[in-house]
Amino acid sequence: LIEVSHVSKSFGDHQVIRDVSATFCAGEVAVIVGASGSGKSTFLRMLNRLERHDAGRILIDGIEVSDERQKLDALRQEVGMVFQQFNLFSHLSVLDNLTLAPRRIRGLSRQEANERAMALLTRVGLEAHAHKFPHALSGGQQQRVAIARALAMQPRVMLFDEPTSALDPEMVKEVLDVMRQLADSGMTMLVVTHEMGFAREVADRVMFFDEGRIAFEASPEEFFACRHDNARVKAFLSRVM
Ligand code: ATP
Ligand code: MG
Repeated sequence: LIEVSHVSKSFGDHQVIRDVSATFCAGEVAVIVGASGSGKSTFLRMLNRLERHDAGRILIDGIEVSDERQKLDALRQEVGMVFQQFNLFSHLSVLDNLTLAPRRIRGLSRQEANERAMALLTRVGLEAHAHKFPHALSGGQQQRVAIARALAMQPRVMLFDEPTSALDPEMVKEVLDVMRQLADSGMTMLVVTHEMGFAREVADRVMFFDEGRIAFEASPEEFFACRHDNARVKAFLSRVM
C-alpha cells in the first residue's frame, strides 16, 4: 500500500532522512521509535507531503506523492494524520470539525456528512459531545475527535505523530484504546509513539530510527526481547522502558 524507496531529505545542509526504503502493507500497524531528532516526524510528514522529499520515490496506493501534478487533495483523502497537538478548528463545533472536509472536498451533503460524523463520534465514544466546542472537552476527548475527524475522510492510511504525548496520563488510555480498536478494524497505521505497551501489543512491526535511517526493524517480540545485538536499540530501550 505504501512504498518508500531511497528517500532522502535535508533541511539546509542538515540531512535528516538518509536513503530510507520501506514498504507497508494494507492492514499493517507499524510503530516508529527513536531518539529525538532522528527524523520520525519528518518521515511521517513526507508521506502526506507536509514536507517534500529531495530524492527517492514515495507511492501511496499508486499515487506518487512527489508528483507535482498530483492534487494534494487526492493524496490527503488517502492519508489521515493525527498530531500531538490536536489541531482542531476551535471556532467549529465537534460535529462541524468532522463534516467540514467531507462536505468541501468529498462533496457530501450536510445530511450525509452529519450521519457519517455521528457514526464516527459513536465509535470514539463522543456522540454526546457533538455540539460542544473543542475547548469544552478534555485533552483525551479532543484527541479522539481529531482521530474521528481524520477518519471522516475515509483514508486508506492513518499516520499518528505522538498522539498521546501532550495528554495527562489518565487520558492516554482512552486514546490508545481508540487506536487499538482502529488497528483491529484493519486500518493501515504508522504510529510514532513512546508508548511501548501499545507497540508491544498492537504493532505488527517496530521500526527504530537513528540519525535519519531505519537502523533496525523487527516484530515487537524480537524488538523488546532484545534477541538481537543492536547496541543502539538496547541503549534506546534502556532509556524508555
Ligand atoms: P522528536 O522525537 O523530538 O519529535 P523526530 O524524530 O520527530 O524528533 P524530526 O522532527 O523529524 O525528529 O526532526 C529531525 C531533524 O530535522 C531535527 O534535527 C530537526 O531539528 C530537523 N528539522 C525538522 N523540521 C525542520 C524544519 N522545518 N526546518 C529545519 N530543520 C528541521
Ligand atoms: Mg517528532
